[in-house]
Amino acid sequence: MQYVSTRGHAATPSFSEILLGGLAPDGGLYLPAIYPQVTPAELDQWRTLSYADLAFQVLRKFATDIPEADLLAMTHATYRADVYGNVRSGADAAQITPMHVLEDSDDKKLILQGLSNGPTLAFKDMAMQLLGNLFEYALDQRHAELNILGATSGDTGSAAEYAMRGKHGIRVFMLSPHLKMSAFQTAQMFSLQDPNIFNLAVEGVFDDCQDIVKAVSNDLEYKAQQKIGTVNSINWARIVAQVVYYFRGYLANTSHNDQQVSFTVPSGNFGNICAGHIARMMGLPIAKLVVATNENNVLDEFFRTGIYRVRKSAETFHTSSPSMDISKASNFERFISDLLGRDSARVKQLFAQVETQGSFDLSGAPGSDGDEFSEVARYGFASGRSTHFDRLATIRDAEQRYGIMIDTHTADGLMIARDHLEPGIPMIVLETAQPAKFNEAIREALGRDAERPAGFADLETLPQRFEVVAADATLIKNFIAAHTQLPIASATSITSTTPSSR
Ligand SMILES: *Cc1c(COP(=O)(O)O)cnc(C)c1O
Repeated sequence: MQYVSTRGHAATPSFSEILLGGLAPDGGLYLPAIYPQVTPAELDQWRTLSYADLAFQVLRKFATDIPEADLLAMTHATYRADVYGNVRSGADAAQITPMHVLEDSDDKKLILQGLSNGPTLAFKDMAMQLLGNLFEYALDQRHAELNILGATSGDTGSAAEYAMRGKHGIRVFMLSPHLKMSAFQTAQMFSLQDPNIFNLAVEGVFDDCQDIVKAVSNDLEYKAQQKIGTVNSINWARIVAQVVYYFRGYLANTSHNDQQVSFTVPSGNFGNICAGHIARMMGLPIAKLVVATNENNVLDEFFRTGIYRVRKSAETFHTSSPSMDISKASNFERFISDLLGRDSARVKQLFAQVETQGSFDLSGAPGSDGDEFSEVARYGFASGRSTHFDRLATIRDAEQRYGIMIDTHTADGLMIARDHLEPGIPMIVLETAQPAKFNEAIREALGRDAERPAGFADLETLPQRFEVVAADATLIKNFIAAHTQLPIASATSITSTTPSSR
């Protein structure tokens, strides 16, 4: 399997070659040169597989340069009931993504697929936990080290830290805005005592953290010298890991392959639903992929009008589903590349135009940049937008009607899914976080606190380990340089090599 850049760069690297990197050298995103296909016979065989075995079957089609025995070992090390054990009472953790049927009548079937049972209670654990194992494996083979630098306002940073903690060859330097995250999210990250995890609380806002990451990444000499890498949502391995649960959702809710299902996906950077698009391109019988957005409706606007218009920081709202508060959707270029028939020159031109003019228009209207919007429905996409009022009402409604508590992001999905129900086609709403992570909104909706999975009861009282730093890229570069000189002490190290000597 070879990979190509959406913008046409000449090299065609392998899975392992793009695993540790981010953007392609031309600024594009990687995609497989051709999508591997699943046959009906394979789908039949996959119906009875465990999640770990299913993940192996999907991954081996993309990671063709990793020996199959190694890949199988990694999917089994990752997708374990004890890693994804934070399930609702009555749910089976061994399912990894347990299904919760909300409605099941002749013309209406509505299902919640639980993706937030991992260590940080959000769906990012589904891919990030595998990424931790893939990174460790690839670095061991190269006798190399990686220093992950990231900025977070919550979910991504904690998922990355829980995936990379104790991994040899890897350090994580995570910037977060000092005193701006929720107490729960802060405690989740800062209570990690692993010596390879560095929490840097930056005196500033999230944008300051992101600017520092950009400044460090743009210093190519420093970046190479300090072996700086990222784990952001454009990482191809994260997308592939997410493809797996679309297969699982389909197989768990159908009994034969001429049935279809639809998915509704609470969306921000278009990473999660991009994986659904790829599953569909592989031949999985998906009827609709419904993009659910909140007030930050960049994607809903495109899927209604054909106009992709990114927002400025000042136009980006802080909402009660904060993990969907985006100004542009960093994985969207992958879908546009397919929509334009992989015409890399046009992809490059359109995204250059986004940088200079802030938008492109594929509506086909006079003066627009193309007419491919008319093709969007062929790819199954539909969309909707929700508001703070909608999500509180949906949280209350889910409690009354189904007796379950859902978080604000999942509520955006459930609300929008209702508008896209079709007779005979199960609608699967992806549950992307647990309510405990967003307790303020739960209190506002229900007048009481969210349930917390066992083991999280005293989270905020645990000792915390972090450094407060000024919003200054030079200071942070110096901090990283000072700490990359130290050996990576790893409690769970399974090799006897001294990391500092590699
Ligand atoms: C990251 C996140 C999203 C958005 O996912 P994308 O892949 O960025 O579209 C939605 N909900 C939650 C809870 C998240 O953490």
